[in-house]
Amino acid sequence: LTFAEIGFAEPILRAVLEQGYTKPTPIQAQAMPHVMQGRDVMGAAQTGTGKTAAFVLPILQNILPMASSSASPARHPIRALVLTPTRELADQVADNAFKYAKYTDIRTAVVFGGVDMSAQTSLLRSGVELLIATPGRLLDHITQKTANLSQVQILILDEADRMLDMGFLPDLQRIIGLIPAQRQTLLFSATFSPEIKKLAQSYLRDPVTIEV
Ligand code: AMP
Repeated sequence: LTFAEIGFAEPILRAVLEQGYTKPTPIQAQAMPHVMQGRDVMGAAQTGTGKTAAFVLPILQNILPMASSSASPARHPIRALVLTPTRELADQVADNAFKYAKYTDIRTAVVFGGVDMSAQTSLLRSGVELLIATPGRLLDHITQKTANLSQVQILILDEADRMLDMGFLPDLQRIIGLIPAQRQTLLFSATFSPEIKKLAQSYLRDPVTIEV
């Protein structure tokens, strides 16, 4: 299986090629086709397996038809939201997303706590289709009305086990409550603990389960 066979559009293939990736890793080969078909996915994968690209690349592919450089900020609602437990992980995911989206019109931004809000605020105001965020800071932007989740179509919970360990469940519940029920949801976790299974039962619909 190649990236082209999975069905990525040319601007995404070009970025993948530029990264020097010759073929999908096992989690990518298993997850990407399902994500691109719009299925919910529950994936158990550690860092280092290529899990970030496993969800970022198909998300870009799925929101690609809705991104256009010419539209006004109001025409760039958040289409995909990645939630991560820490600013380090948010930064890492965003770093990947910037590289992979480089040849598309998709606008990507990252927001996390511990830094001034104003730069994030102006980025969000300018229009962002793919947002990577930690839960607390995202809620701050929602309260401030600089983030609106009413057009989100894809939600990704990355390192969901760590988010639960860090006590983010109430924040996750609030955030997910603001996202349309008609959406695609992806959940990645190092392990499938009973708590993670319960989270998946609450928020995923008929998920494909992938373990590598
Ligand atoms: P991750 O597990 O997402 O933290 O990725 C681990 C590393 O693998 C990162 O440095 C990626 O750039 C790299 N990587 C992701 N997908 C591929 C691939 N298909 N081929 C080679 N390297 C990859």
